[in-house]
Amino acid sequence: MNSSLNGKDYNTLLLGEEGMEILRELRFLIVGLGGLGSFVAQELVRLGAKNLLLVDHDRVERSNLNRQILYDLSDVGKSKVIVARNKLLKIAPDANIEAFDTRVNRTTGGLLVNSVDIVIDCTDNFETKKLLNRLCYKAGKGFIAAGVGSWEGWVASFPFFKREEEEIPCLECLFPGELEALKELGGGSVATAVTTVAVVASVQVQEVVNLVANKGANLEGKTLVVDLRNYQCVPIKISKNPQCEVCAR
Ligand SMILES: [Zn+2]
Repeated sequence: MNSSLNGKDYNTLLLGEEGMEILRELRFLIVGLGGLGSFVAQELVRLGAKNLLLVDHDRVERSNLNRQILYDLSDVGKSKVIVARNKLLKIAPDANIEAFDTRVNRTTGGLLVNSVDIVIDCTDNFETKKLLNRLCYKAGKGFIAAGVGSWEGWVASFPFFKREEEEIPCLECLFPGELEALKELGGGSVATAVTTVAVVASVQVQEVVNLVANKGANLEGKTLVVDLRNYQCVPIKISKNPQCEVCAR
């Protein structure tokens, strides 16, 4: 480590004042505070994001502790979003973090999506992913979806705030199948390790950075498929489905 960096704000060195200002101003909705959401929320706060809405109706269970890094044994039985909020405020006491201990349905989801700029899907079911996709498309929000199962995962990015100027496919174009058939692609039916959620969640947060803060390469219109057991990481283009129920015009 270069000792000349001591005391400097590393994030500002990396992102510049302009990038930091963007991260500070944007409002993020994190849906699901499980494996992916624990990492996503903590990484966003450590990067300097100040406005986070957290939503999840689950309690912490002992079996969560293998991968959900915001929780420990003393949290078992407690509301995930309340515990998460308290821990995040210990990292950044000046952050504005709101916790919603509720299920995401058409009504609650609509209200939450409409009150933010970027929605980060950290859920383990395609019913909610598809609902978020519809709501984000309709409202023109950024939508960064992901799924994990065993040692594999995927991330896809849909900056619907550009949809008036660009042809942007949606999650339904990528996964047109029935909910049952999608279970193993991030539907919560497969045991998952902390390494997988750490990598996939970090890609989701890096996508925030690349998409809005440093204007690097991004996953717009692509899905990044990661296989940790075989060390494969492949970006795949998403073709827009002209018959898509959500995004076809
Ligand atoms: Zn579509």
